[in-house]
Amino acid sequence: MKSDLAISQQTTLKPISVIAAQAGILADEVTSYGDTKAKLKFSLLKRAEAEAQGKLVVVTAITPTPLGEGKTVTTIGLAQGLQRIGTKVMACIRQPSMGPVFGVKGGAAGGGYSQVAPMEELNLHLSGDIHAVAAAHNLAAAAIDARLFHEQQLGNEFTAKTGLSRVDIDPNRIAWRRSVDMNDRALRRVTIGINRPGSSANGIERESGFDITAASELMAVLALAADLADLRQRLGKVVLAYNIDGKPVTAEDIQVAGAMAAVMRDAAQPTLMQTLEGVPTLVHAGPFANIAHGNSSIIADKMALGLADVVVTEGGFGSDMGFEKACNIKARAAGKSPDAGVVVATLRGLKANSGVYDLRPGQTLPQAIFEPDQHALEAGFANLQWHINNVKRYGIPVVVALNRFPQDSDAELQWLQQQVEAQGASVAISEAFSKGGEGAELLAQRVVEALAQPSEQSFQYLYDVEQCIEHKLLTMVEAGYGGAGIELSEQAKADILTLAKLGYSNLPLCMAKSPLSISHNPALKGVPRDFTVPISSLKLCAGSGFIYVLTGNVMTMPGLSATPAYLNIDIDADGNITGLD
Ligand code: ADP
Ligand code: MG
Repeated sequence: MKSDLAISQQTTLKPISVIAAQAGILADEVTSYGDTKAKLKFSLLKRAEAEAQGKLVVVTAITPTPLGEGKTVTTIGLAQGLQRIGTKVMACIRQPSMGPVFGVKGGAAGGGYSQVAPMEELNLHLSGDIHAVAAAHNLAAAAIDARLFHEQQLGNEFTAKTGLSRVDIDPNRIAWRRSVDMNDRALRRVTIGINRPGSSANGIERESGFDITAASELMAVLALAADLADLRQRLGKVVLAYNIDGKPVTAEDIQVAGAMAAVMRDAAQPTLMQTLEGVPTLVHAGPFANIAHGNSSIIADKMALGLADVVVTEGGFGSDMGFEKACNIKARAAGKSPDAGVVVATLRGLKANSGVYDLRPGQTLPQAIFEPDQHALEAGFANLQWHINNVKRYGIPVVVALNRFPQDSDAELQWLQQQVEAQGASVAISEAFSKGGEGAELLAQRVVEALAQPSEQSFQYLYDVEQCIEHKLLTMVEAGYGGAGIELSEQAKADILTLAKLGYSNLPLCMAKSPLSISHNPALKGVPRDFTVPISSLKLCAGSGFIYVLTGNVMTMPGLSATPAYLNIDIDADGNITGLD
């Protein structure tokens, strides 16, 4: 089969104006960015909210290998399959971060004949939204350091000279780091404001660091905002530091929120693209699901739900990660819960969950998981069962998509399909990668059936936000992951007290944890039990409206490996990009 990039480059795409018209978007609701992408205006959002609402399908997965088990492929393939069987459909996906594009995973546009195109534009910059988020983030960082510097320099004369009230930032409690969309481990910890002896020209020396932009709170704000006014309000609430009395200093307090919103104005508009089969696709926001909330934007969903009958979207990693956050964070903010869940499983992914192989992080995946091995498959099946039940617990119908790889054996796929059926779950083998929408027609039919089912239950959250933080953490670990309990560090205990004192206990939780296990420990495969999750710290994200919880040693800035994906990427003399897959 041809490479993803070759397939994408060899497909004749429709002009984006044609795709927009096909989606029911009016000519004055679109700003074209060249031939293949367009920004959608806020007038469309208003109109979409008043239209009849479509159904929302969230694609999730088993506990993945580091390669990914094909949620994006299935999201795009399913949307194409739905279009082929006559459904008015749109897809909503995240904008890929360039960190993983140059790092481990290559592109994130889907793959094979189920891609968003042009994949090189999607994977590199697109319409610049991630850079705008980083710029707004770094503006806030510059503003907080400048304010600290000038209040110290001017001392008691600060207010008289500037007309501004003092905020008295505690230099040891600046909560805001800097942000860049790269995997750059050297920036995890940096010292800023280094001066020559006797000088203070370079500001106030302190330790800080960078997070990848996909983990910036502003990325979550972009993804969770209801509209522009809400985006502006949320930016104002972002806590940048604490003052000498321990009170939060927000972006509004130092009057930088307006400028941050101005920088992000165009980024707040979703980008319209198309799949290889011409399904209108909205690309918007790019939070990771391990160190952020892992779902594309509410604004894009709202536009799509007003235009299409079915909207297919993806929550990152397994159902304990992006899907959990789609339900407990995004659905709460949107006031719209998923109508069905699709769990993607692969033979290789289940074998990797069998416990048969040594899959400690950093190790290369054993070749055996790509080859027939009934014993390992049977042992790994429990992981799929766990994820099916995990989606069902939210009260929505579930469909299992068996994502077929070229090397997969028919016998194993048939066995797996029968096992899933025996559990009473709806299932289809998806050949979306090799056959595009045609290969996902059966899956599309299963999803349409699931959506048409009279719902036995109504959607329910995993926890009640009004419970205290410790209770919510326990529910997350015990009911959300099947663990035995939590172990709070001294820092975490102090953070919980501070959050309670400041009146922020009643926010949902955004867990930062390993995606390679249902537990916090990537070495525990299958269905881990009796594990205790160490909670290292909690951070108030008042702008995105959640409490960010770090478990163990999760890194919020990835690093590059010795053989990163960028080694293969190049351009030819005509500007064609090569090696992006
Ligand atoms: P996820 O969204 O779950 O992380 P992706 O859809 O991005 O996963 O797929 C991960 C990688 O595996 C991509 O490079 C994709 O092209 C490839 N892939 C996914 N499904 C298949 C398949 N059925 N056959 C071959 N390659 C696939
Ligand atoms: Mg994906």
